[in-house]
Amino acid sequence: MASYEAVIGLETHVQLNTASKIFCSCKADSWEDGPNGNICPVCTGLPGVLPVLNQAVVEKAALLAAAMGAELQSVSYFDRKNYFYPDLPKGYQISQYDEPLARGGGMDLPTGDSQVRRVSIHKLHLEEDAGKTVNRDDGSRLIDFNRCGVPLVEMVTGPDLRSAEEAAQYLIRLRQLLRWLGVSEADMEKGHLRADANVSIREVGSNVLNTKTEIKNVNSIDSLRTAIETEIERQTKSVENGEAIQPWTLGWDENSGTLRKMRSKETEADYRYFREPDLLPVVLDDAWRGKILSSLPELPLARLTRFTTQYGLPEYDADILSSERALSDYFEASVKAYGGDPKRVSNWLMNDVLAMLNELSTSADQLKLTSEYLADILKLMDTNTINTPTGKSLLQKVQESGKSPGDIVQSEGLAQVSDEGALRKMAEEIVAANPDQVASYRGGKVTLIGWFVGQLMARTKGKADPNAAQRIMQELLKQ
Ligand code: ZN
Ligand code: MN
Repeated sequence: MASYEAVIGLETHVQLNTASKIFCSCKADSWEDGPNGNICPVCTGLPGVLPVLNQAVVEKAALLAAAMGAELQSVSYFDRKNYFYPDLPKGYQISQYDEPLARGGGMDLPTGDSQVRRVSIHKLHLEEDAGKTVNRDDGSRLIDFNRCGVPLVEMVTGPDLRSAEEAAQYLIRLRQLLRWLGVSEADMEKGHLRADANVSIREVGSNVLNTKTEIKNVNSIDSLRTAIETEIERQTKSVENGEAIQPWTLGWDENSGTLRKMRSKETEADYRYFREPDLLPVVLDDAWRGKILSSLPELPLARLTRFTTQYGLPEYDADILSSERALSDYFEASVKAYGGDPKRVSNWLMNDVLAMLNELSTSADQLKLTSEYLADILKLMDTNTINTPTGKSLLQKVQESGKSPGDIVQSEGLAQVSDEGALRKMAEEIVAANPDQVASYRGGKVTLIGWFVGQLMARTKGKADPNAAQRIMQELLKQ
């Protein structure tokens, strides 16, 4: 039997996090407004009003395009995409068609072995969102226009993805990039990032592109993965049964976890595209382009690679530490403030600080435990002023109080008891008070050393230097 591979392309819509909508002054994000609580004559298409392009939309989209290595077009145009639907009050969507803001470019997916897999982008264009239709149980429908005019970037990848997992990875990396650049909140549950998948299959080794189906309404990365897997399975069975694949549009039903046939797909000719007469061309001159490009930060993948080369981190660490811009900035600032082994900083970040960030659901730049304070705690341990358990508890104490580690060590008397005389005196008392255990130890049960050291640690309320405690105990018990 032939074996098949999947050919997947993704069409993503990204909601830009500008203050206002793309063609009017309504707020772009109406997540907290009631239905139709954030609309105006422009975004609801009342007669006699004209759209005005929001400059920030172009700037954020151009920054994203540049980050994906796309070629920014010096002139691009808006077009009307005509179709009838109740949540589209104008009867057309203002979009870009044959002259988009940017063309080409792509996204590199790290594959974990210092290699990347390139996913190409056909084009990147600007458009407005449509409203939302709410289907009610009694069969009636409600229309909410809040989302009309929300600024979107649409990107279409080439048919370059080969599995549901790769498609999921693409979305994960895209979400990371959007947040990194600060151009979108990229919260899939809130519809800031939406993906439709085009799926077809072919025999392994073939280069043909067979008839594809389109999966819509996927609103999480997990759902995308499951929906694509389900569709690959369905197509494979059909082909094995000798049936032809029909170019269906399929809707993902989140509740039942199944794909439903929605409608036969429109062709582009059905949309009767033509130039938007109410808007000027978007002219991105050299000065404006230069200004936008100058704000392009170091990108996640470049930072990941630099973390492995500059700091000698394993790729695993570097990938996690570069997952968010604030976290990677925090790491670098901590290394700088600490001045010691970067891997030691990485370990503390990945084990303890990340857990704290998850628990507080905040980002690294919001912590009271600043990078300087983390470095202070590491130094206090390195100089044996405090032991490791105290170091761990200090993380929490600094985060809760916002006080410096040094101040807390001072005020709570957390410094290690490394005064040999004091430790020895306590150790002698423990030996004198426990003759039975001493006898067992000297009789050969040497594992009891752990118990003795534990007693001494308890006496010092955990503040003894564990190495000194161990050494002193051993000396006394050998006598
Ligand atoms: Zn409006
Ligand atoms: Mn679109």
